[in-house]
Amino acid sequence: MAWLGVDLGGTKVYGVRLGDDHEVETEAKVKTPRGGPEPVVAAVAALAEQLGLAGVDGVGVGVPGLVDRQRGVLLKAPNLPGWDGAFPLSAALTEVLGGRSVGIENDVSAGTRAEWRLGAGRGAEELLVVFVGTGVGGGLVLEGRLRSGGSGNAGEIGHTIVQDGGRLCSCGGLGHLEAYAGRGCMERVARESHRSGRRTLLVELAGAKRMTSGVFKAALDADDEVANELVASAVEALGAALAAAVHLLDLPAVVLGGGLADRLGPSFVARVATATGQRLLAGVAPLRIVLGVLGDRAGAIGAALMAEELAGAGGVASGL
Ligand SMILES: [Zn+2]
Repeated sequence: MAWLGVDLGGTKVYGVRLGDDHEVETEAKVKTPRGGPEPVVAAVAALAEQLGLAGVDGVGVGVPGLVDRQRGVLLKAPNLPGWDGAFPLSAALTEVLGGRSVGIENDVSAGTRAEWRLGAGRGAEELLVVFVGTGVGGGLVLEGRLRSGGSGNAGEIGHTIVQDGGRLCSCGGLGHLEAYAGRGCMERVARESHRSGRRTLLVELAGAKRMTSGVFKAALDADDEVANELVASAVEALGAALAAAVHLLDLPAVVLGGGLADRLGPSFVARVATATGQRLLAGVAPLRIVLGVLGDRAGAIGAALMAEELAGAGGVASGL
């Protein structure tokens, strides 16, 4: 038996074929087509052919948006070009994938599942996984189950308030974790600094293009002042949010993943661990904060694991 997992992102569609032993057998990616659901369905079908459909029992897709998992409907995906309103993604994919069952879930949930089942959080009964990339998202495992909460949005740690009335978040709120630790918001602040007359390598390296995690790493390595300040704020904000989560749930472990955490690496994770520890009540430790190990494959691997779980549970996600 084998399972396909697809990470449907705003810029690329990446997929893996996972064998019985949970090893990645093949992987492939294509650019996300513009123009909405139909070309995306066709692109996923082509990707699946490339990964190898023979012997595949089910397919899972992680999507950047709001999902009705039971009905297989992608409700809202603001980061997918040309995608307006709800679309029955599972049914459309089943049709082009030879009638195979297709499950969908939020990409952050998929990534959490992967780090929990096969990655840095393997075997944990209680775990928080936080992805620090363009935005900040999280997933929660409690009592050995991936939790989705009352409306399916558990783990939205990026929008917890770390500074009441503080910096503007991408969602329009003020003082949220993502406003300090999300790369998109960090880029906005770097460009504002630049416009107000402060020189920074961040803008010089990125130019008019997106300020990637690699740009942040290079500027930090060169001891750029603005980059140092932005990353220091990100570290403190993560420390505040993680300490709050740990106090609330008595979590023994946190995994940090996502593009920015991956790129800044163990030294960044160590700084976040220190910032969190400084805010914890005495006696709450030991808390382990570790870097994710699956990198940008986490979403696709987690989606394949979801497909396997769906098959095992007779079509109902065991994580629910
Ligand atoms: Zn927010």
